[in-house]
Amino acid sequence: MTKNRIKVERYHDISMGHRVVGHENKCRHLHGHNYRIHFVCTAPTLDELGRIIDFGVIKELLCNWLEDNWDHKMMIWSEDPLLQDLQKLVPEDLIVVPFNPTAEEIAKYLTEEIAPIQLRNTKVSLVECRVEETVKCSSIYQKY
Ligand SMILES: [Zn+2]
Repeated sequence: MTKNRIKVERYHDISMGHRVVGHENKCRHLHGHNYRIHFVCTAPTLDELGRIIDFGVIKELLCNWLEDNWDHKMMIWSEDPLLQDLQKLVPEDLIVVPFNPTAEEIAKYLTEEIAPIQLRNTKVSLVECRVEETVKCSSIYQKY
């Protein structure tokens, strides 16, 4: 797809736990964030109304996916040494992912793995995802 200068953005807020294995500081502990996740989408052309897409469709396909799959759960890396014990205690509370759950990896995963499936029946692609752990700290993954 050629680079389109017109993009749309919608964000969604979720609360989610995680820990970063090997982190030198506080993030090695089990803890959580009120994540704000920004989705930036584009399409090859505007529709007949002059839009990339109806914002409601982004809500339905991406924001609601977050709400249904990640909100109020604990994200754990499949290689985390705590995984086996947590699975015995609270299996339904876990989201097991194939990466150490930093904001960078979460942004990449949403862009490369989740969005292509969720947006498969639209003309739209997710080209940028920003994951805020706090209002001061965020990671951005861009796919251009
Ligand atoms: Zn954290």
